[in-house]
Amino acid sequence: MAGGVYIFLGPPASGKGTQAVLVSEKLGLPHVAPGDILREAVRGGTPLGLEAKGYMQAGRLVPDDLVISITLERLKRPDCKTGFIVDGFPRTLKQAEALEKSLKDRALAIQGVVYIEIPVDAAIKRLSGRRSCKACGAVYHAVFNPPKVAGVCDKCGGELYQRQDDSEEVIRTRFSVYEKETVPLIERYKKMGKLIEVSGGASVEEVRKMIFSSLKIK
Ligand code: AMP
Repeated sequence: MAGGVYIFLGPPASGKGTQAVLVSEKLGLPHVAPGDILREAVRGGTPLGLEAKGYMQAGRLVPDDLVISITLERLKRPDCKTGFIVDGFPRTLKQAEALEKSLKDRALAIQGVVYIEIPVDAAIKRLSGRRSCKACGAVYHAVFNPPKVAGVCDKCGGELYQRQDDSEEVIRTRFSVYEKETVPLIERYKKMGKLIEVSGGASVEEVRKMIFSSLKIK
């Protein structure tokens, strides 16, 4: 099994979640997305969910301390021992520093940071068709990546739903938060020589090919 750490960066609707899952399946490494962990907590009405809900619905970032603690906790599980794929983390400089410190402590290295780009108008068009599985979190698109049976997850048979934060107004907020908080990380990883830039405008399969070839995944 291949090891190492892969980070997926990009604005909302860039397709980073879809591509992160493809790399995770191919390399046999766990896919860790704080957004998924937080949504599950919101659905379950846990204390974490109650704290995170307002930020998420408004398209704002959940406070760093909370996100860092739940994500690093998840990354300590045995399945993440030799590596993992992080999707939607880090999103701020503070998160990046916390991740890098934890990697150093564990002697794990970043193999690549995949940065998928997409303009805001394309994101809005895309997100209106996005559907996610309530049970396993798999992501589909009504036009670009439809499930075999409408409304039903191909992977687990779960029910598909539209995320509350996929409305146009919230997407615009998420984009501006992304530009302010997350874009500075692109420069950081470029300087480290880890950045792989991909345009997210092409089909899922074309983007997948570009990413696999840049990461030298056969
Ligand atoms: P995502 O599924 O990655 O688009 O995340 C959905 C929402 O969860 C975001 O808009 C934030 O409110 C929250 N969230 C996810 N990841 C993070 C993170 N790394 N830092 C802060 N908030 C996050």
